[in-house]
Amino acid sequence: MDLFDVYPLWPIEPVKASGCRIFDKDGKEYIDLYGGHAVISIGHCHPTYCKMLTEQLHKIGFYSNAVENSLQKELAQELGKMSGYEDYSLFLCNSGAEANENAIKLASFQTGKAKILALHEAFHGRTSGAVAATDNPVIQAPFNRTGNVTFIQMGDLAAAEAEMARGEYAAILIEGIQGVAGIFEPEKEYLKGIRELCDTYRAVLIFDEVQSGYGRSGRFFAHRHSGVWGDIITVAKGMGNGFPIGGVLISPLFKATHGMLGTTFGGNHLACTAALAVLRVIRKEALMENAVAMGDYIIRCLKDNKAIKEIRGKGLMIGIELKEGYETLRNRLLFEKQIFTGGAGKNIIRLLPPLNVDKQTIDIFVAAFNQLTEQKE
Ligand code: PLP
Repeated sequence: MDLFDVYPLWPIEPVKASGCRIFDKDGKEYIDLYGGHAVISIGHCHPTYCKMLTEQLHKIGFYSNAVENSLQKELAQELGKMSGYEDYSLFLCNSGAEANENAIKLASFQTGKAKILALHEAFHGRTSGAVAATDNPVIQAPFNRTGNVTFIQMGDLAAAEAEMARGEYAAILIEGIQGVAGIFEPEKEYLKGIRELCDTYRAVLIFDEVQSGYGRSGRFFAHRHSGVWGDIITVAKGMGNGFPIGGVLISPLFKATHGMLGTTFGGNHLACTAALAVLRVIRKEALMENAVAMGDYIIRCLKDNKAIKEIRGKGLMIGIELKEGYETLRNRLLFEKQIFTGGAGKNIIRLLPPLNVDKQTIDIFVAAFNQLTEQKE
């Protein structure tokens, strides 16, 4: 059997990793400033993470959700404390799309309504509901185009109000910071307006923090920079530092009933252990503070580079929009300088490094970036 070839792959096979470094099967060393789509929050193979997971594997790797699992409760407690959402409840699942899928369902159960308001350029995942709420017809099959999602421009409160006034919407779904689109942050006043619209029209405010959450922006959740609280918050990616886990944080206004949601693998023992290790390391090693310091450092170092049209973002979620003529820069960083970065569109480089990236690693990246952008392509 062959693999179903639906996404491009770099011709590099990592076989070993540590912190921000990856080694391929020929022993070549790479710097990882992408963390496999923002997944690596505490660095590859962090000793605390490896120790906790190994110990748990030898106790019990998996048993289904038909029995008590105190690790889930421990995780809910710690996540509540670190995120500030202490009085919310947690539903555990396996990925970002699945978290959004459950969030949409909860909003629809709660309000009795079927429609969702989402933003142009947003990305919420590839399951049916999540992909319907993702403004990209290329990744939607006819089955996903339900007509239940309306897309509006980020920042346009008047358009949001005009839609919400129809009284048909169960929820507004919005990323803490738009990631896949190329790192676009909603303004504080806009989020405050969106919060008010949800309150006025009795809709649920869902923040998708799958990419921007878990300390990446320098606060636990990116939307909290605005002071606004969500009714539902979805998480995944950095939550397990690579171990598949997702979660839905749910306001106390929602009443849980048996059968409403369910899962086979969600919140299994190993996944919870990975998530607990991540929270402990973020706290113990002050990684949110490091994200702020290192993010500011990257922006300071690159702000005068003439190849850059705009550099934006918060903490370690950085978008570098390049002027025309630098379309191959990302490939050159990888193949000439052995540095992994992310992309968005043709001319945006996305930096989503582990939250414990250090100055020395950033200096290597900055020197490589400056050197490659000085040479005309
Ligand atoms: N939401 C956001 C903001 C994302 O960036 C992604 C993935 O890139 C998802 C949801 C989907 O997550 P997953 O790939 O874990 O299903």
